[in-house]
Amino acid sequence: MSDSLISSAYSQALEVIASVEPRIAEATRQELADQRGSLKLIASENYASPAVLMTMGTWFSDKYAEGTVGHRFYAGCQNVDTVESLAAEHARELFGAPYAYVQPHSGIDANLVAFWSILANRVESPYLQKLQAKNVNELTEADWESLRHELGNQRLLGMSLDAGGHLTHGFRPNISGKMFHQQQYGTDPATGLLDYDAVAAKAREFKPLILVAGYSAYPRRVDFAKMREIADEVGAVLMVDMAHFAGLVAGKVFTGDENPVPHAHVVTTTTHKSLRGPRGGMVLAQEEFAADVDRGCPMVLGGPLSHVMAAKAVALAEARTTEFQAYAQKVADNAKSLAEGFLSRGAHLVTGGTDNHLVLLDVSSFGLTGRQAESALLDAGVVTNRNSVPADPNGAWYTSGVRLGTPALTTRGFGHDEFDTVAELIVDVLSNTEAGTTKAGEPSKASYVLGDGVADRVTKRSAEMLDKHPLYPGLVLG
Ligand SMILES: *Cc1c(COP(=O)(O)O)cnc(C)c1O
Repeated sequence: MSDSLISSAYSQALEVIASVEPRIAEATRQELADQRGSLKLIASENYASPAVLMTMGTWFSDKYAEGTVGHRFYAGCQNVDTVESLAAEHARELFGAPYAYVQPHSGIDANLVAFWSILANRVESPYLQKLQAKNVNELTEADWESLRHELGNQRLLGMSLDAGGHLTHGFRPNISGKMFHQQQYGTDPATGLLDYDAVAAKAREFKPLILVAGYSAYPRRVDFAKMREIADEVGAVLMVDMAHFAGLVAGKVFTGDENPVPHAHVVTTTTHKSLRGPRGGMVLAQEEFAADVDRGCPMVLGGPLSHVMAAKAVALAEARTTEFQAYAQKVADNAKSLAEGFLSRGAHLVTGGTDNHLVLLDVSSFGLTGRQAESALLDAGVVTNRNSVPADPNGAWYTSGVRLGTPALTTRGFGHDEFDTVAELIVDVLSNTEAGTTKAGEPSKASYVLGDGVADRVTKRSAEMLDKHPLYPGLVLG
């Protein structure tokens, strides 16, 4: 698509929006300017293509389509059927999955659909069988009571948040930590690496119904064949949440035992992180779980976001190209360059490096908390997020780490040299930041003092790189 076509499409769209609520048009313009002008290192973010973004802005948004393809609870869903079947077909082919469900609105929704599908498939309850047989009216109040008791006491074993897992993997404040009897596995305190023997020992003792693998802040690959072995030994269902690294699976960087799809019973993902699609979720499953996952609506979801399913189909069509494979490989190569850039400058990384798309920088050696580091970096135009490190002495709010990912800047065309410079700039900021004090003169975990001239120096160097690798090159708003 030509640059002038995209430029005029967005310029005109903003005019239409401005005619109703100019402040939203203005905020939309400003967001583009801000994204263009900052070094985005948030590991869960990316930049979707104009084709993906435009697909979300259509009248598909106006259509209700509860149900499944060809079996809707609303009339007039023939075009939504086309969209949903195509998105699911692309997903099955791209990931080599027997079944794909593209309705979840987000990663969390995808996980809820997966949890309830596994419960429906695996909990042997006479009450549940009645429910599946649709004899809902036969259930008495006492039946419902027993059903709630049975469902509420199933066991889930997931990776703990501070080891890099996600809050939906059994974290107490999340619903997954309340609807399941849960336990968590961590990483080896000495190496920061997953210890499969320890996971297996915990699984043998706890005997979970669901073993969850996958992460948001673990900088290494996972051996999913081993995770499946552990699940099989204790009779658990292996659920893998590949929200963060789906792009590396789609781009064939993670293959064999590192590809979760052939090993897991159920795989969930977001579509907007390394996969570079619209904001949404997806569930892939082995045949035996397909019928249960298909009941995502009405089990967990209401009407699907048809405009987003359409954008998922477009993004998945992009992800099956050789260009996307080259992108995914570059994401992983760039993470290595970033890690080497830090290590060569004496910084500490959790696990000592990376072999995926993210690094976890331990900022305690700079005398800072994650909160102080994140804020100081933002002052210099570097957008990151603070993150716990294993056994974090500063807890989940202040933390001792900063998580950095390469998917977004790789989309802009950053390569080895730029990521080495990114490491240099971050080390420059952090080594010139001092922890501040509270009003009472006590050491503070939040306030900080950034050295004179650092922000300007770093912003200038970043601007050179950002100008050389523009976001949406050719897109000029009139
Ligand atoms: C981001 C993420 C999610 C949640 O995705 P949302 O779309 O924000 O709901 C779930 N699981 C993992 C592992 C994630 O990294």
